[in-house]
Order: sequence, then C-alpha cells, then structure tokens
Amino acid sequence: MKRRPFLQTLCGAGLASAFASAQTASEKARAKKLGWALVGLGSLSTHQIAPALLKTRNAKLTGLVSGSPDKTEKWSKQYSIDAAHIYSYERFDEIIKDPAIDVVYIVLPNSMHKEYVIRAAKAGKHVFCEKPMANDAEECREMIAACKEAGKLLGIGYRCQFVPHHVEAVRLAKEKVFGQVKHIQANFGFQSGDPKQWRLRKALAGGGAMMDVGVYALQSCRMLMGEEPTEVSAIETKTDPVKFAEVDETVNWQMKFPSGRMAQCCTTYLFNGYNDFTAVCERGTFSLGPAYSYSGLKGTCSGGKNYLDMPDVDHFQLEMEAFSQAILDGKEFHPSGEEGLRDMLVVDAIYRSIQSGKLEKVAPV
Ligand code: NAD
Repeated sequence: MKRRPFLQTLCGAGLASAFASAQTASEKARAKKLGWALVGLGSLSTHQIAPALLKTRNAKLTGLVSGSPDKTEKWSKQYSIDAAHIYSYERFDEIIKDPAIDVVYIVLPNSMHKEYVIRAAKAGKHVFCEKPMANDAEECREMIAACKEAGKLLGIGYRCQFVPHHVEAVRLAKEKVFGQVKHIQANFGFQSGDPKQWRLRKALAGGGAMMDVGVYALQSCRMLMGEEPTEVSAIETKTDPVKFAEVDETVNWQMKFPSGRMAQCCTTYLFNGYNDFTAVCERGTFSLGPAYSYSGLKGTCSGGKNYLDMPDVDHFQLEMEAFSQAILDGKEFHPSGEEGLRDMLVVDAIYRSIQSGKLEKVAPV
C-alpha cells in the first residue's frame, strides 16, 4: 500500500474507532439513569414527583428519606426500593456511603430546605430543591455556597421554566413578536384549607401565600421583562387574622424595572380564581390562564395566531430530566440556586415594604 492511502486508511480507522468509542461513551451517558432520593414523602412527592420519576429517561427513584416507617414501607413496595436505601432524617447523612443515590430532591416544608440542601451537598450529592428556595436571600446564599464548595449542582424546582407554554411566552417577549412588553399583570392564589397545616406556621413556611405561590407570579414577571426589578411596593391584608396570624393572607405588590416598565401582582390564600399572567405589548397582548397549574394551561394571543396553544406535558418529568442531563453532560443547570436567590431578594423587599409601608429597593445579587 502506498504511504498516503495507507496513512489515510489508518487515520480513518483510528478516527472512526475514536469516534465510535466517543459515541459509545455519550450513548452510555445518555442511557444511564441517575438515582434520585426524595426527602419528604408528602403530597407533592406522592402525587407528582414519584409518578414523574417512573417516566424520566435518565433518572429513577432509588432512595427515600422520611420520618415515617409506615410510609417508607408502603413506598418501598410500590417503587421496589431496598431497605438499604431508606433513611430517617437522623440517618440522612449516611447517604454519603450510598452509590445508588446521585441526586437528592428536597421536598420538605420551606424552612427545612436550607438544612437539607447543605447536608445533601456535604454528603457529596447533587441537590434539587423545591420552591420557594428558602426563607430569605441570606439562606439562599448559604445553600449556594455549600453546593459550590462540594462541587455539586444545585437546581431549584421552578417547573414552569420547562413548560412549552412558558418557554414560548418568554420567546414572544424576547423576540418582541407583539412588540416590546410594556406592562405585566400576574396573579396566583388559592383558598387555603386546613388551619393546622404547616403552610400557616411561619417557623415552617417562612411566610404565607407570597412564599408559597406568589413566587410563580413574581418569576413570570422577571422572565417576561427580561430584566430584574429594582424597587417594589407592597401591601398585605387579612380577612382572618386568627387563621393567618403568623403568615400573609393576601399580598398586592408592584415592581419597577430599570427600563421604567412595571408589573403588578397579587397572591392570596383567600380565594380561588387567580392563576394567570397578561403581558401587554406595543402591538397586542398575550396571556396564560391557567398559567401555573400542573396541566390544562391555556394561552391567548391577540391577532390571528395563538402561539400558546400547546399540549400538556409533565412539568416534573421535564425538570428532573433536565437536571439529570446537566449532571450527565457535566454542564451548568438553569434554574440554579442563583435564580432562587434572585426571587428571594425580591420577596425580602416585598416583606420589607409591607412592614415599612414604603417603596423598598431590591438588594443586589
Ligand atoms: P406536604 O405537607 O404534603 O409534605 C411535606 C413533607 O415533609 C411530609 O412528608 C412531612 O411528613 C414532611 N415533614 C418533615 N418534617 C416536617 C415538619 N417538621 N413539619 C411538617 N412536615 C414535615 O407538603 P408538599 O405540598 O409536599 O410541599 C413540600 C414542598 O414542595 C414545599 O416546599 C412546597 O412549597 C413545595 N411544593 C412545590 C410545588 C410545585 O409545584 N413545584 C407544589 C407543591 C409544593
């Protein structure tokens, strides 16, 4: 064989085999399912997260953390989880020795997020944490620092950021399909039931409707404006000062953005019916309502084409697949802890404004 064709064949073969092995490695990475452990087996874990994990292509439920042996016994049978991967809150740190668990998903009352995110990171696990990320911005900073120090990813369960309706709405805003967004109204609330639930205890919830569902409306405004609010004004009212003695019942707030545009929002535990946003633009409007439910989101656009007419997806499946893929690919994940921090900086300013009765500045990141 002449030298050049020989080298070409050799190089080709070498390249082909290198390519084949690289392909196999990436296929393997794609085929691998990361093990997820759920901390807190309450309503969200039971009805949304665990069922979604049965559908994820790159993640599976491999561990449980709970204070209730009755629950874990039932779950271990239902999801075929061996006793070796079941932990009480006291034994939680032992997951450091459990290779079946790659990711820990914190699905506990809000005030417990910080402690368990930090413990999970120290146990060498990637951490996914439910919203609201924490009680305040200071806690968010501690959680971000702990995950950074451990070299682990921290993701926040802002499921809407993976839902096609919300992704498309952000595109409509960013690409100015109806011209620039000039003003946004966003609202989310519901009628709160059981007066004994942890959501009404400040020590466990950190706050009321604002912390629980107000953050959805707040985040829609940040995403659609494409800039961060700098000042807020807020008022809180209660119709039931006994039931809502410790937390906010209804909060109305307004946010000023650097461009001079503003957004107006409401969150409540008083009534059902607010679950929407409307973006008013130069040449029309687009809106979602319901905007934040697990299914049945409905969009409306002015003019002929409804860009927001899309099929339902499983929000939890999408967020967990995205987080797992970021880990498998060694990439950054968005929405990260910084996203939770940005929301919480605004929430902190809203609570300050409720107290002071004045316009309050949003602290810088
Ligand atoms: P839940 O009350 O149904 O479950 C909470 C779990 O935490 C229970 O298993 C409970 O036993 C456990 N727990 C441990 N220590 C506790 C304590 N001291 N007090 C009370 N419970 C304790 O609540 P949930 O609705 O599953 O909410 C859990 C988290 O998920 C919250 O942070 C909430 O904001 C968030 N959440 C997010 C969404 C979403 O759409 N992303 C929806 C609902 C809830």
